[in-house]
Amino acid sequence: MFVTHLECSKTGKTYEPNKLYNLSEAGKPLLVRYDLKRAAQSLTKDSLQGRVSSLWRYREVLPVVHDENIVTLGEGWTPLPHAKRLGALVGMPELYIKDEGANPTGSFKARGQTAAISMAKELGVKKVAIPTAGNAGGAMSAYAAAAGLEAYVFMPRDTPAANRIECQQLGAQVTLIDGLITDCGAEVAKRKETEGWFDVSTLKEPYRIEGKKTMGYELAEQFGWELPDVILYPTGGGTGLVGMWKAFDEMEAMGWIGSQRPRMFSIQATGCAPIVRAYENGWDEAPEFENAHTAASGLRVPRAIGDFIMLDILRRSGGGAIAVTDEEMIADTKVVGAAEGIFCAPEGAACFSALKKMLSSGQVSASERTVLFNTGTGVKYLEAYGLKEAR
Ligand SMILES: *Cc1c(COP(=O)(O)O)cnc(C)c1O
Repeated sequence: MFVTHLECSKTGKTYEPNKLYNLSEAGKPLLVRYDLKRAAQSLTKDSLQGRVSSLWRYREVLPVVHDENIVTLGEGWTPLPHAKRLGALVGMPELYIKDEGANPTGSFKARGQTAAISMAKELGVKKVAIPTAGNAGGAMSAYAAAAGLEAYVFMPRDTPAANRIECQQLGAQVTLIDGLITDCGAEVAKRKETEGWFDVSTLKEPYRIEGKKTMGYELAEQFGWELPDVILYPTGGGTGLVGMWKAFDEMEAMGWIGSQRPRMFSIQATGCAPIVRAYENGWDEAPEFENAHTAASGLRVPRAIGDFIMLDILRRSGGGAIAVTDEEMIADTKVVGAAEGIFCAPEGAACFSALKKMLSSGQVSASERTVLFNTGTGVKYLEAYGLKEAR
């Protein structure tokens, strides 16, 4: 279609399209580049009227060559309710929630996996493997099942039960690891050669970010081609943050938006806040966060391979990074739920906890149009909300 090449996010070295890749030779994430001038001839704002109600409406800026390889379960094009009652609680008339809990498998990981698994299928992969904090495994299992691929999922033993059961019921082979997602990643890396697995870890293959970037396109389209002032994004590996920023640049290159950008804020848990620590210390990279722990499993990523890209985006956008406690996010799940009828994942509620801090510190002003990302459904986190699990 319109992909011209892939590019190392660190060195800029280019790579041929339509081949299987993990990281670049420099060990950094690869980014997909398009001929946006040509893509913009058929992908116009008007052309979007009447297109499919999934992220595949942005077909020209997605990487699959042949339509028959697209593996879709109806992901993306999620609601963006105007959170008037929640906004009123904090005096913000222009507060919105991008509700990613509405995605297949209950989280925005579906966006990344529809793109990654479609490309894996197109490029002849038969077996896929993933280290996961929870939701990515469920999403990969679902898309692998729909594509007819074998799925191997590695998750920490204390991942929420819903994630484990979901993967198993979707036909994946699940291995529980005594450790964190980074330990799961090491296990996949160790075995993938001999087992013939393709590794679809966050940012270690180039296409999950392409699926996740569509959140940026959707925000622009849903707001009538005007980006919000402030975005709060619960950050683990950072695919969505990096992806949305890429989408903004692509839309500008296609002449859809100007050079104005939202201020981007990474929200993390105090028990695992590598990006917040690096941001506050002025570091360009975020070293591993020791003893990472939080009930918000999507945020339990002690070391992110896209750290340098994220930190650059946070600074260039004039945003920042804020940590909140598990107690705050669990309590705020009920505040958001009771005000808006959205049963959030703790990761989503964390954005509201952070917003209150940002209002009192002056990092955001009450009149600004602000978007909170609810990245998943609370239904998958019953242990965090008090259910004692019987194993
Ligand atoms: C994975 C996940 C996150 C973090 O997303 P990244 O793009 O990896 O930063 C946040 N919330 C939920 C519910 C997740 O599953």
